[in-house]
Amino acid sequence: MDFEDDDNKGSKGKGRSGKPIKEFDCPTCNANNPTDEPITDGVELRCNYCGNDFLVTINDSGRLKFKEL
Ligand SMILES: [Zn+2]
Repeated sequence: MDFEDDDNKGSKGKGRSGKPIKEFDCPTCNANNPTDEPITDGVELRCNYCGNDFLVTINDSGRLKFKEL
């Protein structure tokens, strides 16, 4: 399973040059997970709801991409 996250949320414009990203939407169960630490490129995150682990990368447009671990 390797779908692109095309489900973007319009022109929210967070990430990269903007403010730190401190939440993510789980690609498996769609739950919104707040994080204590800002999400940075290459970090590993766990969904609090389904328990899946993901390696996160941030692309040029500041969007999060998830790779299931
Ligand atoms: Zn989940």
